[in-house]
Amino acid sequence: MAEQIQRVFVPSAIEEGGNSLSLGCFSTEETAWQVLRSFLKKSDQMLLVSASVVVWDIDVIGEHGLTVLASLECKVCPVCTRQTFWVDLENFSALCHGEACAAWVEESTHEPGVIDCGWPALRFLKQTKSIEEAFTELFALGDQIKAAGITETVSVKDSEEMLDEFDSTTS
Ligand SMILES: [Zn+2]
Repeated sequence: MAEQIQRVFVPSAIEEGGNSLSLGCFSTEETAWQVLRSFLKKSDQMLLVSASVVVWDIDVIGEHGLTVLASLECKVCPVCTRQTFWVDLENFSALCHGEACAAWVEESTHEPGVIDCGWPALRFLKQTKSIEEAFTELFALGDQIKAAGITETVSVKDSEEMLDEFDSTTS
């Protein structure tokens, strides 16, 4: 006999206007996150405002069976300006799910109180003292990229030169 399922992990997303999009229910948290992450890649083609992963205990009546694991809010990405920047409100972290972007903000795992931010396409990485400062860094990077006309197809070498220039203008 198959092992009895005790809990199910449920990812979902909310559209502008409040319509909830169900993405299925899964036996592991990992799978639920995989399904949600791949769905959020398309979030600039939809009007999504938030998303969540919750876990339901089976055979429990009412809300006691529900635990919210994460709730995410969709923002405009400071770097690529698409509506693909997902902010985890509980344990603060943010990641752009837009194609070829992946700008991120996260509290440092090594130094408490330090906020790291980065943009992998340029191997850009900065440590800041606050979330606001981290966003300011990413917005400045986004402005610089727009001003330089850098697109996703530009080579890494060109991008690095641009970053050097960016560093020298900000320091
Ligand atoms: Zn982005």
